[in-house]
Amino acid sequence: MSAFQDLGLMAELVRAVADEGYATPTPVQARAIPTVLEGRDLMAAAQTGTGKTAGFTLPMLQRLMATRPEGRRHVRALVVVPTRELCAQVAESVRTYGAHLPLRAVTIFGGVGMQPQVKALQRGADIVIATPGRLLDLAGQRAVDLSRVEILVLDEADRMLDMGFIHDIKRVLALLPKRRQNLLFSATFAPEIRALARSMLQDPAQIDVAPRNSAAETVRQLVYPVEASRKSAALAHLVREGNWYQCLVFTRTKHGANRLAQKLDKAGLEAEAIHGNKSQNARTRALEGFKSGRVRVLVATDIAARGIDIDGLPHVVNFDLPHVPEDYVHRIGRTGRAGAEGEAVSLVSPEERKQLRAIEKLIARDLPRSQLDGFAADLPADGPGDRAHQGPRPGGRGLGGGRGRGQGAGQRRGQGGGDRGQGGQRRGRSGAAAQPRDAGHAGGGSRRRRGGRNRSGTAQAS
Ligand code: AMP
Repeated sequence: MSAFQDLGLMAELVRAVADEGYATPTPVQARAIPTVLEGRDLMAAAQTGTGKTAGFTLPMLQRLMATRPEGRRHVRALVVVPTRELCAQVAESVRTYGAHLPLRAVTIFGGVGMQPQVKALQRGADIVIATPGRLLDLAGQRAVDLSRVEILVLDEADRMLDMGFIHDIKRVLALLPKRRQNLLFSATFAPEIRALARSMLQDPAQIDVAPRNSAAETVRQLVYPVEASRKSAALAHLVREGNWYQCLVFTRTKHGANRLAQKLDKAGLEAEAIHGNKSQNARTRALEGFKSGRVRVLVATDIAARGIDIDGLPHVVNFDLPHVPEDYVHRIGRTGRAGAEGEAVSLVSPEERKQLRAIEKLIARDLPRSQLDGFAADLPADGPGDRAHQGPRPGGRGLGGGRGRGQGAGQRRGQGGGDRGQGGQRRGRSGAAAQPRDAGHAGGGSRRRRGGRNRSGTAQAS
């Protein structure tokens, strides 16, 4: 595969990428970078973990450098994202990749005071990275002028639509000049996203790095049928016996997240919950504890977990299956990032078999089942076409194949060998526990507005 300099990137960017230790572009980068450099619109089906952020940030920075005007800075690139966490992460990428360039980025997101953001904008910005609501508020107050934007990026567009941002996005589009370059990234391309793409993209290049709506190829997926009432005990067993040191667990509700974190904590496993009802400080603390290894299990709701980016997160657990099958793809995208191996385990109660079927339909494959010793439940099939079954299919199916019946975490210990290993071995292999990429703004996410936080919300790219 080609190196970054072969993609046409300027020396300053190649150097910044080398500083990060990335030798080879990921598939989405290899395809997106030359296309964006050409000035074309782009529609990319790439979920988080594919390296998509660098895929648009690197060529965006180069294009901004190529057309850098004399005089006062004005906003020439706008990146719209669904959550403040993603906002902080994109800003971090801009800062990292733009380390050798004189460009300035400002982040804009809700839930914090406006004034620091207004001041940061007054100091001048080439790039604005924003969530839609606050961006519109500031544009309404004329604190930000979007009339000279040359490049628009919509990141995680499907999630923005899920969160009800479609009207806000349309309002933002109306503030932009007609002539501009548009880049749209989305994990899935549901019909509504395609409609949005049609309305805003001109003759876009299309990139589909993973087959559409499929789960990340490097994630091993496994279903354990477990009665609802035994799920917490089953999870504690998996974590303890599997020696999992860093495990992100999804629940459907905030209440469920709290309850589970408390139970695990009582069982002696350091656990914390993040969700929209927690203060930003509490969420940031929990996330930092998780990244540093102090918190072994982080329990999160779907929205709170958006944008959590931890290199090589080894374990994701679906404690409850999501109601929206696309959320499954997002959830398991938290592991197996950019080529790292990861494991996504789902504890599925008999009541959840419909959700399981919907997920399997979306990803177009059956998930391998395995029985967890001491916790096994029946996952009855309920009619023709139901693909639920007990135990793994012969020879394994889908990603990573199935494991044999009875190969619960306990039994898997010691059979690690090779590059599968168990938690401890994996930690050794990568040199350390997963490294946080964003020590700044990271935290759980939510759209809830929250006052009283005194954070600047700015990011310098230079
Ligand atoms: P993203 O899909 O943008 O959320 O990126 C996923 C992760 O992959 C991030 O933690 C990046 O730091 C990392 N990453 C991005 N590009 C590369 C690359 N070329 N090689 C290895 N890791 C990368």
